[in-house]
Amino acid sequence: MKIWFGENQTNDVRLMVKASSVLFSGKSKYQKIDIIENPTYGKILFLDGTFQLTERDEYIYHEMLAHIPLFSISKPEEVLIIGGGDGGLARECLKHNIKKLKLVEIDEMVVELSKRYLPSLSSSFSDKRMDLLIGDGAEFISKTKEKFDVILIDSTDPVGPARALFTEEFYRNVKMALKNGGIVGSQTGSPFLFPEHIKNAYFNMKRVFKYVYVYVATVPTYPSSIWSFTFASDAEIKRRREIDIKTSYYNEKMHDCNVIPQFVIDMLKD
Ligand code: SAM
Repeated sequence: MKIWFGENQTNDVRLMVKASSVLFSGKSKYQKIDIIENPTYGKILFLDGTFQLTERDEYIYHEMLAHIPLFSISKPEEVLIIGGGDGGLARECLKHNIKKLKLVEIDEMVVELSKRYLPSLSSSFSDKRMDLLIGDGAEFISKTKEKFDVILIDSTDPVGPARALFTEEFYRNVKMALKNGGIVGSQTGSPFLFPEHIKNAYFNMKRVFKYVYVYVATVPTYPSSIWSFTFASDAEIKRRREIDIKTSYYNEKMHDCNVIPQFVIDMLKD
């Protein structure tokens, strides 16, 4: 049995964790999937050898991707998630008083394994507001006639089928699927190790939307720990709603002050 699992963050940097047990190791149509247990981080989901989430720190990423956009809109009712097959982002979105949550995930096996091994995230799939569709998010968004208040991209990094989710064409289709004043939000990777990822997404969003904003959070198991999120709208985001849900990372000050490092500001100058 393989004991050490890790992610090659670059050609010469690797983050390793020791498995106390390997719950699943296999391959879906799209990717290699491993779920292991580690004494420090709890259960960990890897896709193609990269950390997707750990039970211990997943709330940071999921709260930040959900609540900054959702509290920036006065009355979100319809929300779309692209990717997010583990259910963690959906759990956070469902804390809001929304009417419908559609989730389009390409890999059914991620959903099924999360239901089996990660109930603290995947319990969201049994919420009656949840509408799960297995399919390619880029294809879905190019065809849908539905309109959403908020569209969130919770995808793997821009390789394979996720590459299409960071292009200008994709954001143009997203814009058509947003209601007036709607917001799109996306994870945009490590600005420290992968500046091209965030720059590509940011400048593509800028070509499509009037207002584009960036924020960061510290996620211990992601490459370099500093992770970026980018959100955009054609309406200026002026103030947030009253925070009326329980969170463990996201809070008022974080939302209102949005402190981002100077090197991130510099890399996003026109
Ligand atoms: N929090 C994670 C991170 O940044 O490491 C993302 C986790 S979530 C499990 C990512 C999901 O996006 C995967 O389950 C993957 O199958 C899905 N995905 C990738 N490309 C997709 C596409 N084109 N359409 C829908 N889902 C996609």
